[in-house]
Amino acid sequence: MTQFPACDRAWLHAAIDALEREAARSADTHLLKIELPGYAGIDFYFKDEAAHPTGSLKHRLARSLYLYALCNGRLRQGQPVVDASSGSTAIAEAWFARLLGLHFTAVMPACTAPAKIRAVEALGGSCDLVDDPAEVYERAATHARNGACHLDQFGLAERATDWRGNNNIAESILGQLTREPHAKPAWIVCGAGTGGTSATIGRYLRYRRLPTRLCVAEPSGRSFAHGWRSRRADACASQPTLIEGIGRARVEPCFLFDVVDAVLEVPDAASVAATWLLEEIFARRYGGSSGTNLVACLELAAAMRARGERGSIVSLLCDRGERYAETLFSSEWLDLHGIDPQPWHARLTRCLADGSAPLAPTA
Ligand SMILES: *Cc1c(COP(=O)(O)O)cnc(C)c1O
Repeated sequence: MTQFPACDRAWLHAAIDALEREAARSADTHLLKIELPGYAGIDFYFKDEAAHPTGSLKHRLARSLYLYALCNGRLRQGQPVVDASSGSTAIAEAWFARLLGLHFTAVMPACTAPAKIRAVEALGGSCDLVDDPAEVYERAATHARNGACHLDQFGLAERATDWRGNNNIAESILGQLTREPHAKPAWIVCGAGTGGTSATIGRYLRYRRLPTRLCVAEPSGRSFAHGWRSRRADACASQPTLIEGIGRARVEPCFLFDVVDAVLEVPDAASVAATWLLEEIFARRYGGSSGTNLVACLELAAAMRARGERGSIVSLLCDRGERYAETLFSSEWLDLHGIDPQPWHARLTRCLADGSAPLAPTA
């Protein structure tokens, strides 16, 4: 009889223990409440996912992907780990690899910001840079054929997270709202990168039989918006975007269109202006996708206000803004990319005061 070596099972148990102890040591992220004078009667809540040890909502995903790989018997002691990611996921996955004593390689496009490469390397990970960004998936697959465990964020994000609860982001939000005046929100707003967050929230709202609707905030002309409208898995982006983490070029395998009730497309200049506004509101910086979320929240709130509805709207602050000092918070960089957030900043500031809709066409 051939047996699975007992030492492997002992390591597996210790690894799962290490992940559970990390979760037990971590506090839940804050649900920050803000009131915006123009939208009287509507309460806004923002879940501060920048507060995770690795600075973004990808901390949750990385923890789930490791646990999923371990429980599927795909990750053994001493095995190298790989994933295709140029952003927050690589940093979170490198962080957990260090926790588990494994070596992590991030497959990234060569044009990736040097600060991100340094962040992965500072956590003990390696970066495998490929010239053509479209090549990253194939390169990750090559690492996997050579024995690495492919965490596969784009392939597994929607199933690695336990959608029925187990302190997933949706359960956490609704639990934190329990004693609020509008404990069942009218809307939850999030972006779609892997699609994991929107899938988890959308399923959980149905499972818990809540009236809450889910809105995906998408950079204008990107694939989720086109795919959701046409219900086509082969939809592609029709415009570029500078917003990181969301606004994918192609429909990703974990995009679940059927649990999303609305998609709002936000121009990049509006997202950047809203990112600046978030700094004014919270006195700290968040990333561009958080700005995209804010614009969508205001648009939904204006419609509620126009119908005389009261209620709550919840969204996410997805990552820390420090990483964007040389990009979204640099006027030279914005000039270089032809983005002028000033008119949007003025418009959004007016919305906060008078409760109007930011995206509606001006008369
Ligand atoms: C990944 C990411 C998102 C989108 O979350 P998904 O669950 O992957 O769809 C939004 N913002 C940032 C900064 C991200 O890194």
